[in-house]
Amino acid sequence: MKNSVELLKQLPSIDRLLQCPQLAQSSAPHCLIVEAAQEAVQHCRQQILNNSVSLTNIDIDAIAEQTQQRLNHKIQPSLRQVINATGTLLHTNLGRAPLSDEALQAIDDVARSYSNLELDLGSGKRGHRYSHIDQLLCRLTGAEAAAVVNNNAGAVLLALTALAQGKEAVVSRGELVEIGGAFRVPDVMAAGGVILHEVGTTNKTHLHDYENALNNNTGLLLKIHTSNYRIVGFAQSVAAAEMVELGQKNKIPVMEDLGSGMLFDLSEFGLPREPTVREGVEAGIDLLTFSGDKLLGGPQAGLIVGKKWAIDKIRNHPLARALRIDKLTLAALETTLRHYLDRQQAIDKVPVLRMLNMKADELEQRSQAFMARLRTAITERANVELIAEASCVGGGALPITDLPGCALALTPRHTSAEGCAIRLRHSTVPVVARIQEDRLLVNLRTVLPAQESVLIQALVEACSA
Ligand SMILES: *Cc1c(COP(=O)(O)O)cnc(C)c1O
Repeated sequence: MKNSVELLKQLPSIDRLLQCPQLAQSSAPHCLIVEAAQEAVQHCRQQILNNSVSLTNIDIDAIAEQTQQRLNHKIQPSLRQVINATGTLLHTNLGRAPLSDEALQAIDDVARSYSNLELDLGSGKRGHRYSHIDQLLCRLTGAEAAAVVNNNAGAVLLALTALAQGKEAVVSRGELVEIGGAFRVPDVMAAGGVILHEVGTTNKTHLHDYENALNNNTGLLLKIHTSNYRIVGFAQSVAAAEMVELGQKNKIPVMEDLGSGMLFDLSEFGLPREPTVREGVEAGIDLLTFSGDKLLGGPQAGLIVGKKWAIDKIRNHPLARALRIDKLTLAALETTLRHYLDRQQAIDKVPVLRMLNMKADELEQRSQAFMARLRTAITERANVELIAEASCVGGGALPITDLPGCALALTPRHTSAEGCAIRLRHSTVPVVARIQEDRLLVNLRTVLPAQESVLIQALVEACSA
């Protein structure tokens, strides 16, 4: 065996390595090839210095192969498709709602070309980007006017600032929500220069609590939907209509942040009732805000509907420009909203609604068929069985509701469930699955049908020794 000094001398120069055919012919950006080559040589040098390999000679082809492997990682986009096998419908870390085919087509059409984003095709004059969705939103919610910004956190900040900057907003202590990503109602208010006036207690707030809080500097009555938690038991909150009555009597506007606003009643899916946007409009609330990519199942956006005077204030506020929605999102949002013009079409086309509406027996049938294919492919590498498992909606919506269903439970023979989960995340198409008692759970509710074959392949590879 040669000593390490001799081996180190044999290490190829980067130039020499780049002449290896597979690297010389690579179409990858040169800077990435060089970086991968440097890392591969450095790795080899370290191994020699650590005596962790018993080499007799340096094999340039092997280093070229290592360079290629490193390069393969470097040329992959960082943001890419992931298979969500967790069963959780709205996962902020996984990009929330997948879009319908039609919404994707709309993005494609608008993005590939120029568009009439801010051009009124009728008059040939300057138009407004809101014009593509405002009538649609009014039709779907019964509101007088509508606007849209890039997410609901932005919508809340904009609405608070436009309606109540320098003034007090009265909020129930039971509704001082924190949602993921450090969005906390008191902090958003502070950022918008709105003074928080808390009323009531954690579990109970009465109408007279709001009434007693009114003073010369009251600018807004604010209601916030407790989208990601519930206060149950000895609890009471004030209905929107009562707040509107109080607001109108005192000439103070009322705003509601619905979080994951629904356009139709979810109890038709056997789910608990959530307030719909239309109900808020009909109750007379001046301004309602909600997300585009929660239960609505569209792209990330903040939707604002309400009275014309309030929407005008929003549209004309300088923050509206800073928070404006981009054309790709707008294209997908318009198409998603159009699905809602027909209830059945919405359920059939909007992926989140389809997953939400998937009944336990439908999921079981699909899981059985998948299991048969998986068992054939995975053979003795893992034991696969079907177990009962409930999904949750996630994304700060319907926090205490379970969607009954089932999941495949894999017990790998040659690796731990944890090891398997790590390998799944490193698959060509990464897979995210849950682990329970050293079993890997795969819930098909959130797996798109077109992803099934890729998922089987990834599971087989992850369970291989
Ligand atoms: C989710 C949520 C928001 C923020 O919406 P994004 O679209 O994530 O910005 C605001 N308020 C409530 C009550 C929410 O549930």
